[in-house]
Amino acid sequence: MSISKTEGIVLKYTDLGEADKILTILTRDNGKIKAIAKGCRKPRSSLLSSSEVFVFSEYVLYKGKNFYHITQAVIRETFYNIRKDLLRLSYATYFAELAEAVSDEGIPSERLFLLLAKALYYLSTEKIPMGLLSLGYQLKLMDISGYRPNLQRCGVCRKSCREYPKFSVELGGVVCEECNTDESLRNNGDIFKISQGTIEALNFLLNIEISRLNTKKIDNTIFNEIERIIRAFIQSHLDKRFKSLDFLDAIKDSGF
Ligand SMILES: [Zn+2]
Repeated sequence: MSISKTEGIVLKYTDLGEADKILTILTRDNGKIKAIAKGCRKPRSSLLSSSEVFVFSEYVLYKGKNFYHITQAVIRETFYNIRKDLLRLSYATYFAELAEAVSDEGIPSERLFLLLAKALYYLSTEKIPMGLLSLGYQLKLMDISGYRPNLQRCGVCRKSCREYPKFSVELGGVVCEECNTDESLRNNGDIFKISQGTIEALNFLLNIEISRLNTKKIDNTIFNEIERIIRAFIQSHLDKRFKSLDFLDAIKDSGF
């Protein structure tokens, strides 16, 4: 029986039997894992709190045939504030769903783990506006997963140019003035108009530490342009519809 210790964040769970849960945990050392928390739904269980979503704990695990089993957990951070506000909770749910989509079972990605941990931390401390944090998180997550938007060279001719009027989701980046023709862009899926200010803001969001995301003012027009581009970019490259994003939209529309 191999026993290991790792930090992890619960992404989601399903109930099992009378009192157990199967947790999906993004760990620091083992990538995404599925782990059984036995008895954790009993009120006096020592695993009660560490089996809730978004909770960050250090786990002692042993690997069974199909699942890991949690023998011990010490909570590092509950990110309690996230649960006090429906909009905040919706963002956290979307962050977790995205992390789940790009992580693999048993393949470690410490960068992804740290990105999620920091995003949940800043979401709970309210130091960075939620919408801005979300843009930064989504871009950084795509970068870590091998889909960094290309903002330095034209996606068609590969040249480094002075201006890029378009962004092609399918080509994964900007398109230069010369290639901005119906012929070059045909069959290249979603094409967005993009301004120089948006390109600069995208570069900023990609390169700045999460803790410093609010050190640059991004105006509403640029913010909305980035939001539309990222949404199409993620949907196209991850080829998945995120239920939590639909829910987040509904919450925002209701003016919650
Ligand atoms: Zn070009």
